[in-house]
Amino acid sequence: MKEKPILYVVIPCYNEEEVLAETTKQLKVKMQKLIKDKNISEKSKVMYVNDGSKDKTWEIIKDIAAKEKLFTGITLSRNRGHQNALLGGLMTAKNYADVVISMDADLQDDINAIDEMLKKYKDGCEIVYGVRSARKKDTFFKRFTAEGFYKFMKFLGVDCVYNHADYRLTSKKVLEEFANFKEVNLFLRGMFPLVGFKTDVVYYERNERFAGESKYPLKKMLNFAWDGITSFSVKPLRLICTLGFIILLISFGIMIYSLVRKLTGNTVSGWTFLSISIWFIGAIQMISIGIIGEYVGKMYSETKSRPRYIISENLEEKNK
Ligand code: UDP
Ligand code: MG
Repeated sequence: MKEKPILYVVIPCYNEEEVLAETTKQLKVKMQKLIKDKNISEKSKVMYVNDGSKDKTWEIIKDIAAKEKLFTGITLSRNRGHQNALLGGLMTAKNYADVVISMDADLQDDINAIDEMLKKYKDGCEIVYGVRSARKKDTFFKRFTAEGFYKFMKFLGVDCVYNHADYRLTSKKVLEEFANFKEVNLFLRGMFPLVGFKTDVVYYERNERFAGESKYPLKKMLNFAWDGITSFSVKPLRLICTLGFIILLISFGIMIYSLVRKLTGNTVSGWTFLSISIWFIGAIQMISIGIIGEYVGKMYSETKSRPRYIISENLEEKNK
């Protein structure tokens, strides 16, 4: 563990011209303090990732990078969305840094949590998750939907850190392993726990966006949540099978009911046969789809070809 690691702060920016000046101002003070206190190397930087913005964001970033040696930037060829932009930034920053922290351009995530993140890193943690301790400043709707989502993910068996967005510290080692996750439907906050290693969390309070507006309207948020669920869980597929078996049970009930009605003589002719057939065939079809779903699920996880294991220490290497 280096005493003075090179830290890169990666910040995706989409149409953020209104916030960049203030963000830069605050981060400059923070970075200078960290360098002065010998917490990080003087080679550390803030890396803005322009996600194909339509406004002057990239011009502003270039301007900042030219004036301030603590700041740098990359730009994507077009808008690819927050998760892709962030990944692009992380994969670029890992070539220069020992440790990388990702955060949003609007500084809704308290930058003072960086100190504690670095402290945990120096204690040997490879990933430190920033967790929102309270969502007092979020609207009721945002809080309700977001917290409901994390609970639902847990129900689906996804190993997700509760109330953690994309404010996190990752070491170079983690990012190098992460490069082997080749999937294209990104849900980074669910993927990092798959990497493993020693991890910890840091709590902070989330602020309001100080300028500009959210780039995550409801539609994007729902899409993102749906991506998270479908990229991490094949449980919805398995539910089809379960549903099929429930309907099969119901169909047996219907069968008995229809036969009793027939034997007691108060049915029109043909009704018994039809009602039994409809329910029974329905159940068989549902179960069949469920079985196909099982195979589709298997194929799905195969095509993602995530690494099957990651070695964190090898004594043989050390003895060399
Ligand atoms: N962002 C991005 N590309 C997009 C949308 C958003 O890079 O297509 C960035 C945005 O600039 C910000 C971060 O993702 O730095 C989070 O967005 P925002 O603050 O609008 O989301 P919220 O905090 O409202 O969930
Ligand atoms: Mg925000």
